[in-house]
Amino acid sequence: MNILLTGGAGYIGSHTAVVLMQEGHEVIIFDNFSNSKRSVLNRLEKITGKLIVCIDGDIRNRSLVKQTLQYYKIDAVLHFAGLKAVGESSEDPLAYYDNNVAGTISLLMAMKSCSVKILIFSSSATVYGVPHYLPIDEKHPTDPESPYGKTKLQIEQILSDLAKSDSSWRIFALRYFNPVGAHESGLIGEDPNGTPNNLMPYISQVAYGILDKLKIYGNDYDTPDGTGVRDYIHVMDLAEGHLAALDYVGNHNEAFSVMNLGTGNGCSVLELVNLYEYEASKKIPYEISARRTGDIAACYANPEMAFLKMGWKSKKTLREMCFDSWRWASTSLQKHKD
Ligand code: NAD
Ligand code: UDP
Repeated sequence: MNILLTGGAGYIGSHTAVVLMQEGHEVIIFDNFSNSKRSVLNRLEKITGKLIVCIDGDIRNRSLVKQTLQYYKIDAVLHFAGLKAVGESSEDPLAYYDNNVAGTISLLMAMKSCSVKILIFSSSATVYGVPHYLPIDEKHPTDPESPYGKTKLQIEQILSDLAKSDSSWRIFALRYFNPVGAHESGLIGEDPNGTPNNLMPYISQVAYGILDKLKIYGNDYDTPDGTGVRDYIHVMDLAEGHLAALDYVGNHNEAFSVMNLGTGNGCSVLELVNLYEYEASKKIPYEISARRTGDIAACYANPEMAFLKMGWKSKKTLREMCFDSWRWASTSLQKHKD
């Protein structure tokens, strides 16, 4: 298949590009590099041994998207492009609604006019909001708190309406839990701008000596050790999930589906710190600080639907997630020290 990856130069898109290319698909990346670096393209070429086609553009540029869909005879779109910082979305909600919601509408219009009707969308477990029960299945009510989460839910609603209006669409919204880790080559991984907000890249920068110590946001939650529990999933497993989703939409007559991509296992902040220390052979100094506003005690997936429908389940362990994060961080973080 000829597959367009919006946001394909980013963290999850670049890992998915590797998996798709290794399966023999033609991958075309479409990215405005607002949160990624062009050097990713060379690194992808090193990993796959193939030339990477990349269009430097914004998904809101409808005519460029249309030209790309037509020129490359695109069969399916994997839509990763979006802004994703929860805190920033409260400070600048318009940027999030414009980029994520308006950007997706523009992409969908371009796809419709070119009769490209297969779409895999990067949604998020954040659409569930505060869990009413655990593990979270797809029937769990949705009630996102941040503007970021609301953009993801609004896009899902738009996609559902679109599929109702025309049953020839094949749309999958994948609700990711907490993607971490990196490709085994150590050439690509998560490369956040500035001080990381998320736990794993923050731990990596402490392990590498760029940051002094980790602040653990609260140890008085109703969890086994009092620290927050999340469902960390290896980014390569997530990438495989996209391949499974593509196979599924090609072989089933469902116009729209949503699905969790998680492991089903909860891991606390302290557990992750301990595993990382072991895998990296580094001490991770930490202090307990106040809870972070908006954080929840625990969130993990019921991933059964993905297995029942697509035969997909995560394979990689938390130790592999820590080891691969460290291998990537210890090669890529040198530039911060220089
Ligand atoms: P990322 O920021 O690394 O990648 C997103 C890519 O999209 C970047 O390369 C960026 O330059 C590009 N982009 C952004 N806006 C664009 C636009 N208007 N036009 C063209 N390109 C644009 O993020 P990621 O972690 O790879 O996440 C990919 C998707 O998955 C996002 O939609 C994100 O919301 C979603 N998601 C991520 C996580 C996570 O923890 N990483 C969790 C759940 C969902
Ligand atoms: N966390 C932390 N210190 C940090 C970053 C995160 O203690 O510097 C905790 C956070 O409170 C949560 C868990 O780590 O319990 C995962 O946070 P992250 O931001 O990575 O994911 P999210 O909260 O969005 O699921």
